[in-house]
Amino acid sequence: MSFYFGEKSWPELEEAIKKNTLVIIPVGTTEEHGRHLPVETDAMIATLYSDAIAEELIQDNVPVLLTRPIYYGYSMDIVTRWPGCLKIRTRVFMDYVYDMIDNLMKMGFKKVALLDCHGNHDGLLRTVMREIADAHGKFICTLAPSKLSKDVYNQLKKDPEGDIHGGEWETSMILAYRPELVNQNEYTSVDAIKCNNELRGPVSTWGLQDTKTGLYGDPTYATAELGKACLEAGTKESVRILKEFMKL
Ligand SMILES: [Zn+2]
Repeated sequence: MSFYFGEKSWPELEEAIKKNTLVIIPVGTTEEHGRHLPVETDAMIATLYSDAIAEELIQDNVPVLLTRPIYYGYSMDIVTRWPGCLKIRTRVFMDYVYDMIDNLMKMGFKKVALLDCHGNHDGLLRTVMREIADAHGKFICTLAPSKLSKDVYNQLKKDPEGDIHGGEWETSMILAYRPELVNQNEYTSVDAIKCNNELRGPVSTWGLQDTKTGLYGDPTYATAELGKACLEAGTKESVRILKEFMKL
């Protein structure tokens, strides 16, 4: 059975509202990911996670619908040095996401979850979450499946420095599920992470190290096995948290 919001008729959506169905909005973006990955990498990862999460929730009898992913969002100017980024200004992006959720709530949906699959959106999505709570008296859920897979990722990764953009982790995800889109001839380690790791977080990572090819990491370590393991781990944790959210 389809779990895509857009494939339902309005009477089917009316039924879904009566069942207190969870609506998941996968949020990716479109921007360069080095010379070897497609520009839709984040939106593809958002799709992979949201499909896997919805399938597990349905199996566990949690009613769920998925909107199509958000393909375009906010990125810092640094990635616009290369073609591929259809940059949306922060306030336009926030208003867009806000309006989607505002209308879901006006229809009668009470449970909404944002799946954050792009590094520049965290603060923006969490602010929208708070604005929705102010307007509707209902807390939505914002979670980042990739962050929830970090234990498995840290166990399996080969790059001691990890991945920030287009390196071992993201390349492994696309290699696992869309290998035909990964150009392995273009792998390079020139943008391997060399920055002060303690400042990753307190300082925007793009401010810690320059990039020659649009990467911030080393794709030469990527494997499909790592990608599959991260998808499974992030899905399992997200499903666990979403089930808790549904009890609220
Ligand atoms: Zn990315």
